[in-house]
Amino acid sequence: MDKKLKIKKLNQKIKNCKKCPLWKTRNNTVPGEGPINAKIMIIGQAPGFQEDKTGRPFVGRAGQFLNQLLKIAKIKREKIFITSPLKCFPPKNRKPKKEEIKSCLPYLKKQIEIINPSQIVILGEVAFDTVIGLGKLKDSRGRWLKIKERFYFPTYHPAAGLRFPKIKKILEKDFRTLDKVY
Ligand code: URA
Ligand code: SF4
Repeated sequence: MDKKLKIKKLNQKIKNCKKCPLWKTRNNTVPGEGPINAKIMIIGQAPGFQEDKTGRPFVGRAGQFLNQLLKIAKIKREKIFITSPLKCFPPKNRKPKKEEIKSCLPYLKKQIEIINPSQIVILGEVAFDTVIGLGKLKDSRGRWLKIKERFYFPTYHPAAGLRFPKIKKILEKDFRTLDKVY
């Protein structure tokens, strides 16, 4: 089966998913989007209000800030596959629960397997704990880590940058160094 079809089937599965209670309150699933041959994948946290409304990742305020950060990094958003460990909106934008992430994680794993990006940018602690699961984000952020033939760049979540000016500065700095040699 070709990659495109695999992603299409996976998205269909996500659309019908009832593996955790979030299916009851979602308006749309947000599987993520981007080219099937993307070299870079970005992993956020969970869909927000705007994402739930549109079914598209990072289209709200955090998404607009992410667009600015990508400009700083000189990376075209159209070339990246953007997704998150959770595919449905947690009501009132609360932090995802461990059980929800556990139920949803196989979808992200499958996306990584199909798209097979060489580089993954990890945004925030939820993605860090879920995907890297080793140590603390603040000790590893801002540089490329090589884990089993893939490179990972952990940094803060753009939503945290919108809340805290200090984090905003760090995010801008991290995205400036994204294209540096690992
Ligand atoms: N935050 C995320 O982590 N993902 C989105 O899609 C939107 C906001
Ligand atoms: Fe299924 Fe994930 Fe949505 Fe839960 S968050 S219902 S596991 S797609």
